[in-house]
Formats: sequence, C-alpha cells, structure tokens
Amino acid sequence: MNDQSRLKTIDDFMLNSEVPLDLDDLMLVLAEAYKVPIALIGIVGEFSETFKAHYGTTLSKVTREHAFCSHVVEERKQVVVSNAREDPQFMHNPLVTGEPHICFYAGTPIEINDQVIGAVCLIDTVPREIDAKHLEVLDRIGALVSQHITLSREHEALKREHGLIEKSPIVLATWRYDTSLRLVHISRNSESVLGISSQDLLSGAVALSDVLTQSAESDFTFAMQAHMEGVETHTCRLQISTPTRTIWVSMISTANFREDGMLYSVQAFLFDTSDQKYVEDKLNKTNQRMRLLLEASELGTWDWNLVADINQVNKRWCDIVGLEYEYYDSSSRFFRQLIHPADYVQVEKQLNMHLTGSIKVFNTTFRMKHADGSWVWIESYGKIVETDAQGKPVRIAGIHRDITQRMESELHERKKTQLLQFINKTRASYLQNNDLTMACQSVLPELIDISDSQFAFIGQMKKEGDSSRLFIHAISEIVWDSSSFSQYAEYKKRNLYFTNFNNLFGTTIQTGNVTISNVSGTHPNSKGVPPGHPRISRFLGLPIKIKDKVVGMIGLANKFDVYTNEDAEFLQPLLDALAGLFYAVELEDARAIAEDKLRHLAMTDSLTELYNRRAFLDECQKLSSQHHQGCVAIVDIDDFKKVNDRYGHDAGDQALISVAKKIAKQNQAPNFVARFGGEEFAIFLKSENKGDTHTQLEALRIAVEEESVLYKEDIIKLSISIGATFVKDTFEADFSVLLSLADKALYRAKEQGRNQVVWDE
Ligand code: GH3
Ligand code: MG
Ligand code: MG
Repeated sequence: MNDQSRLKTIDDFMLNSEVPLDLDDLMLVLAEAYKVPIALIGIVGEFSETFKAHYGTTLSKVTREHAFCSHVVEERKQVVVSNAREDPQFMHNPLVTGEPHICFYAGTPIEINDQVIGAVCLIDTVPREIDAKHLEVLDRIGALVSQHITLSREHEALKREHGLIEKSPIVLATWRYDTSLRLVHISRNSESVLGISSQDLLSGAVALSDVLTQSAESDFTFAMQAHMEGVETHTCRLQISTPTRTIWVSMISTANFREDGMLYSVQAFLFDTSDQKYVEDKLNKTNQRMRLLLEASELGTWDWNLVADINQVNKRWCDIVGLEYEYYDSSSRFFRQLIHPADYVQVEKQLNMHLTGSIKVFNTTFRMKHADGSWVWIESYGKIVETDAQGKPVRIAGIHRDITQRMESELHERKKTQLLQFINKTRASYLQNNDLTMACQSVLPELIDISDSQFAFIGQMKKEGDSSRLFIHAISEIVWDSSSFSQYAEYKKRNLYFTNFNNLFGTTIQTGNVTISNVSGTHPNSKGVPPGHPRISRFLGLPIKIKDKVVGMIGLANKFDVYTNEDAEFLQPLLDALAGLFYAVELEDARAIAEDKLRHLAMTDSLTELYNRRAFLDECQKLSSQHHQGCVAIVDIDDFKKVNDRYGHDAGDQALISVAKKIAKQNQAPNFVARFGGEEFAIFLKSENKGDTHTQLEALRIAVEEESVLYKEDIIKLSISIGATFVKDTFEADFSVLLSLADKALYRAKEQGRNQVVWDE
C-alpha cells in the first residue's frame, strides 16, 4: 500500500490536526441507532490515529500500532471484531485490556481520492454480532462522511477565496438567471470599492441600476443582454454615481450556460479604474485638441505601423495630394510610389537614418504626385512613437505640410538668380575670350539644369549665299551611331550646321514663335527622330530674335514635367542676352571688315593695288627692328611723259598697271614693293647676296623692256631705270638715307642714258 500518497491526501485535506470535523452529532445518532456505547471517526496518520468526531469516549488519539482502524486502512475494507478479548490478535491490545475496554469493533473505510484515510467505527465493551444489512448501512455512512470531508474542504477553499476577494479591490458579483437576471451574490468589499453595501444590494434595498449613470445603465443592460444571447465574456466600463462620489468601474463578466445552452448565471469582476479613466480622458482631450489644432493648421497627419505596414492618414493628408479619403490605400508601397523619383532616395535615406537612431527626427522636403498630375512640395516631419520590447521601431507618426507655393516661389527666385548668374557668365566669357561658341558651351549644362531638361542646343543663323544655316554653338552630346558620331565630331571642330528646317525645331526658325510639344510625335511639324536617336518626349523651341528677325534659337528636350509658356517667359532674359551677344558679334564682325577695308585702302595704291608710299615706309620701319640683309631699289619708267602724250592718259595708266604687275610678280613676300609716286616704284628685296639682287633687278628691267604693253590698237614700248643700294643690316639702317641713296643712283641711271640698273657708290 502506498502510505505516502495516503498521508499526502490527509495533509491536503488538513485532517492531521486535532480540529474536529463537527460530526459528533452524527456519532451520537449512530451510537443510538446501533445501540453501542461508542461511535468514532478516526483518521489514521503516520504514527497515530486521531479521532475527529466521537461519541461515548473522551479519547482523542491512540497510537497507530494499537488502533483498530489501522486494520481497516490496511485491508481497505470493513473490519468486524466480535469479541476482542478472545481474539488472539487483539486480546493483549491495551485498548482491550484497558480503557476503553474494546470488546466489539465494526469499522468501515473513509475513502478520499482512492485513498483510505481512516474509518467510521462502532465500539462496544461486550461481545456482539452485526448482520450484513447493518454493515451495509455502516458502509453508506462511511461514504457520506467521505463526501462530507471532501465538500467541507472545498467549502473551506471557497471561503478562503472569498475572504481574499473581500480584502481585494475587486468586487465579485453573481447573477442567477431564471426568468430574469437576479443578483444572488456580491462580495462584501462592494461597500469599500463601489460605495454600496452588499447587504443593500442583495436585499434589494438598493439596485445596481440606481447608482449607474444613464449611459452606464444602458452599457450594463447591453452586457447582460449579450450574455443572454450567448456571449461568454464581455468587458465594459461603467460610471457609478453615489451621493458621496462618482467613480469609473471596469466590469469583466462571464456567462455560465447549462448543458442545454440556456444561461444559468453571470459572474463579474468589478474594479475601480477611475484613475486610468482620468488619464485616458485627459489623453483623449489632448488628442482632440491636437487634432483640432492639426485640422486648423492645414496639416496632414500620418501614423505608420511598420510591422503591420499600415499607414493611417487624415483627410487633409489626402487632400494635399488630391486623393479621395475613401480610396486611400494604407500600404507603404502606395505612398512611396507617389514620391517624386528625383526625391525618393533622399527620403528613404532620411527615414533609415531616423529608424536606426542616427537622427532624432525625420524631417525632409520632397515632391509628391497630385492626382491631377502636378507635383506637390511636401514638408514632412515624423518621429518614432512606439518600439517593441527589443527597442525596434514599431510605429512612426508625423505630419505633412503643403509647401508648394513657398517652394515654387523660392525655386523661381533661385532659378531667376541662377539664370541671371549664368547670363552674366555668358557675357563675361564672351567679353573675356571674344568667343561666342565657347561662351554658349560653357553655359549649356546650366541651361539644361535650370530648364529641368535632358538635352539642349544653342544655334545661331549664319548666312551662306542666299540661304541661311543654323550654326550650332553648343549641343548636348547625343551620339548613337557612326553618322551622329561624325556629326558630333564636326561640332567639336565648330563646324556643325543644321540646314533642314522642315521639322519640329525648324518650326521655331521658320515661324519665329515658341514651339511647345509635350507629347512625342503629335506636333504637326514633327518628323520623328532618326533611328537610334534617344526618344524626344517633350520639346521646347525658343527663338532668339533681333528686331523681329530670327537670328538663332535654343532647343530644349525631355523635361521631366511638361513645357509651358511660363518656361519660355522665364528663359526670355537668356534669349535677349544671346540676341544681344549675337548682335554684338555681328557688329563686331562688320566693324572688323570695315576696318580691314579702310586699312587696306589707306595702304594701297588704288590704280596698281600695290602698297602706297606710306605702307612701304611702314614696312621698312618694321624691318628696321630686325636683322636682315637685302637691297632697296627705286624704279622709274623712262620718258613716261611721252607715253601719256602719245597714247593718252588711260594708256599711261594701263602701262603703269602692267609695270606694277611685273614688279609685284617678281617680288613676292618676304620682299615688298610699292608705288612710290607717279611712275616710280620702290622695292625691298631680301637677300644676303648683292649680286643676286642685281641679277633680279636686271631681269625685271629686261622683262619691262621686252614685253610691250598692249593698249587698244597700240603697242606701247617701255623701259625702266633702277637705282639701288644694298643693306647689310636693316636693324642699323636709316631707310630715308637708303632711299635717297637709291634715288641718287636712279638719277645717275637717267643721266647715263636710262634703261639700266645703277648701284650707289
Ligand atoms: P624721265 O625719263 O626723266 O623720267 O622722263 P619722264 O617723262 O618719265 O619724267 P617726268 O617726271 O618729267 O614726267 C613724269 C610724268 O609721268 C608726268 C606725268 O604726266 C606722268 N604721270 C605721273 N603720274 C601719272 C599717272 O598716274 N598716270 C599717267 N597716265 N601719267 C602719270
Ligand atoms: Mg620717268
Ligand atoms: Mg619720274
């Protein structure tokens, strides 16, 4: 037999104390009924048997060794001893030989949880018999005692629990349902917790509904009705108002149903949560105030649960981006796709920095797509408001402010400044380098940037014969095949011209108006792009005009957004500046041409196209700063007066021209010649050898002598005389002296009979 578990059962049921079981009356009845002097209930412990109820003896305890009931425990069944005095097993037992002089014993087991823990027994001091029927009754009594012990233990436990509850701030109430719910139990702490005595409530002097506020009463009724309809548990909060105070009570109620599903009872815990309610109310009020404030300040709000990926926003948030609040999609994917691609990376970076704790708040500006297709500038400010047990962010909440207007005016201002800056840069570059192409190329990247475009070109109309071509000062590098590559190479060589204007960009040149095309291929003049050319989705052509005449254009392509007339207006100052520069270049070119012409005129003899005397002297002046050798010669036509006289002045002029040509032909650079006056010419012949120069002058003389001039029908024969001097070093020479030396030699040539070369002495 397992005594260990048996002893544990005794212990569990708190039967090892001497506290009686309150069953002495039963013992009395039993003794009377069986007509025995002693009836007992004994619990057999480890060392002794304790009598928990007795009749007919004052004994409270006997040793286990001598206890008769031990036999019942060991045999787990009824034990009957008719005459102990004659029974060898018992005759020496002190309980037989001494008090209480047991002679007859009938014991039946007390069984709890399958353990026999003791016995109910009848004792007599004389021998007797007991029949089976009486034994059976005794057995039933044993079973009843067992049940009594079990129940009273449960009762004790319940009493303890109730005692605990009554000392706690939680009120326990039970309603029983028959035709309606009736309060059948409420713990005594109702007085201290709810302010209403449990007696009053149970007696009906005060009904719970009397102390509930109106809305609490309907909440309470709702809870009870819910249970009647089969709801198992329900939680609500009730406001209880008594003459002395008003409190908030939370009620957690549970329904018990019978096997047939009918409501049997409702049990509820009620506890004071006024403090919590106060804080909640305050929070709610604050939240409400906050919400009102947010609505008033036109702020959109967002509250993003990262774990569930639900981003809750208010109506204003939706209004900002033109969305119907009802159709808002709370996934993060949805709002992410509204962010401008150019701002996306920056927004994600900010968010990550905040989520990883490197910045305290998430605060950034970005563009979001409005339902109408435009972009809205948003200032967003957010902060983590909830983290999990590991400190990982769970929720982040914040606000959206529409700052489109502010940003657009700021951006416009900034762009305006940028535009002015690069207009100045263009001008400065041009003034510094006098190179318009270079100036245009230097601002092309900024033009692309400021106009939000992908490609750009700046062209200037240049006349070529009767037609005009567009010279490309600057263009984005668009190379997609070998022909475009060679085109770009031409551009690099400053030799790229657009000649065909029967297309989209040509419209600007031909009409002199702004050309806008925002949908690829839809403009009537659009001819598409060559195969392989990057797609031109949008185009803006801006004419550069001087006094209504188109002198060039700017072409812009592929803005992210649509091109508008505002873009054209915005860039007008640049167009004006370029027009000014083009005009300046034109003027400058014209001036240079005129100046060249004048210089030429000033230095040239109009009849012979040779240098005049002044130009000759200027050249001599230049030579005198260098080391050179050579000869200075003066050529004079012999008896020219007679030529004029004989053939007329025009013939004379032709003769002069013919001689001038011969001189010029023979004396190319670095030599130089001039008509020095009348029928006189001057020559500077560069050479290190005087003899060579003589040969050349002689050859010239012979050429003039031998080749007659033909004028109309006349054959004019001419000869020349040449006076020459040799220069050893032009650096040291005084040309006026040299010329007079040559002149003197010429004089001598005339004297000596003309048609000869004479050197100075
Ligand atoms: P010599 O051999 O001594 O040089 O005799 P010459 O007649 O050539 O000399 P002179 O100085 O007396 O005469 C020069 C003439 O050249 C005078 C002038 O009529 C003529 N003459 C000067 N310039 C021009 C000109 O531009 N056209 C023509 N047709 N004749 C000119
Ligand atoms: Mg002459
Ligand atoms: Mg002369």
